[in-house]
Amino acid sequence: MTPSSDASGVPDPWALLREMPDVVMLRQPIAEPGRYYHGLRAIVLRSGRSLEEERRSLWHELVHAERGDTECTGWAASATERRVEREAARRAMPLAVMERRLAVACDWDDFVWHMKVPESWVRFRLAQARPAERARLDRACRWSDFGDHAAYSSS
Ligand SMILES: [Zn+2]
Repeated sequence: MTPSSDASGVPDPWALLREMPDVVMLRQPIAEPGRYYHGLRAIVLRSGRSLEEERRSLWHELVHAERGDTECTGWAASATERRVEREAARRAMPLAVMERRLAVACDWDDFVWHMKVPESWVRFRLAQARPAERARLDRACRWSDFGDHAAYSSS
């Protein structure tokens, strides 16, 4: 189980990084949001971004590191990258945590803030939720237009 940094229950990728002592993380002015070099066990994040964006990138690269992928080739370039991105979003936003945060958030923007990642990634995560999971989230939500913000994906 991934440790949490605080009472929010939102998993902390930096805590997971600390549990992988052979993996190093550094920030550089690179073009991509993040890179992973398996030979060096090194995660490179683009410098100068928001905490939310950095959190998303770190989750993605940590999944590569856990899997032992040889590299990160880009965020949508291949089936592997799409699989890694889906797994990263699930790890960053577990269903039970989203449920609890929906129950205390006062609106969509507040909920996104609670999740500590970019809004587009919250939508990406919700689009993956299965119908039964979506039903749980709908029940947990305290305000009325959740479905408008988190459009259901029929695929
Ligand atoms: Zn990647």
